[in-house]
Amino acid sequence: RLDLAERIAARLGARLRDQVVHAVEEVDLAVAEGEVVGLVGESGCGKSTLGRVVAGILPASEGRLTYRGKDITKAAGAEAKKAALKIQMIFQDPFASLNPRLKVAEIVGEAPLVHGLVGRAELADYVDEVLTSVGLDPSYRRRYPHQFSGGQRQRVGIARALAVRPEFLVCDESVAALDVSIQAQVLNLFMELRERFDLTYLFISHDLGVVEHLSDRVVIMYLGRVVEIAPTEQLFAGANHPYARALLAEVLRIDSRHRIFKPVEGEIPSPLDPPPGCAFHPRCPHAIGRCRVERPLLKQIAPGRYSACHLNDQS
Ligand code: SF4
Ligand code: MG
Repeated sequence: RLDLAERIAARLGARLRDQVVHAVEEVDLAVAEGEVVGLVGESGCGKSTLGRVVAGILPASEGRLTYRGKDITKAAGAEAKKAALKIQMIFQDPFASLNPRLKVAEIVGEAPLVHGLVGRAELADYVDEVLTSVGLDPSYRRRYPHQFSGGQRQRVGIARALAVRPEFLVCDESVAALDVSIQAQVLNLFMELRERFDLTYLFISHDLGVVEHLSDRVVIMYLGRVVEIAPTEQLFAGANHPYARALLAEVLRIDSRHRIFKPVEGEIPSPLDPPPGCAFHPRCPHAIGRCRVERPLLKQIAPGRYSACHLNDQS
């Protein structure tokens, strides 16, 4: 039986094999314990792929993934299982990620039982405890996913992830499918859980308002590369990279907290055939000759701030 994670990996893997796309290249990112890192970019920029690689759902074809100092890129056996449990992923569509034939008690209780985190005798109490921690009534244990609203289903999805006592959650557009009012509740839940369980987050979102509200640092990706990393306040006070500036400038304000960016002017080039030099140069209003031929590297421009743009070499 394939679970959702395997299915996604299989599908992505297949797609990647067909097209030989490097969805993500040369991403160098360290997340500190307890930090919330927001990951932003237009669709197709590779942010979901990066999230899946971090969560161990998709193998990295090259490079290294270390967790608490341990290389888990090619971890096998017990060690891989341990790392896989500590990093959990929360998906966008809670309905698609929950098995419709299983009751909540099974959805939440299966992994901790299989991995020996709880014994069968304590399982029912354990599931009740986890459900309570995500704001669901323990009596919901007997229900099926279709008996819940979207927000409740996402809580079930969060409960399933929390049940294996993770340290690191990768949230991929985890509230995007929910009504705006429900989004706020689920976001608050994420922050409550962060305090309570000392969680670290990689928070993938196209909603800049949500990212600004939640994140300590923000990472901006374009065509599979990181173009800017900055502390949240500094980024929103003024981005360095022309792509980041364009992304932050073109925002559709939904309400005070939700700001979805509009597509940046110009088409996103195909990741199959990225432009040479700086991949953003065909759309960049500041491009200089060098941008067409030489790829800018991500460089430190101030303490804690990184940007990949040739203009930073000129001052
Ligand atoms: Fe624009 Fe050149 Fe900077 Fe790329 S390197 S963002 S093309 S100025
Ligand atoms: Mg995505």
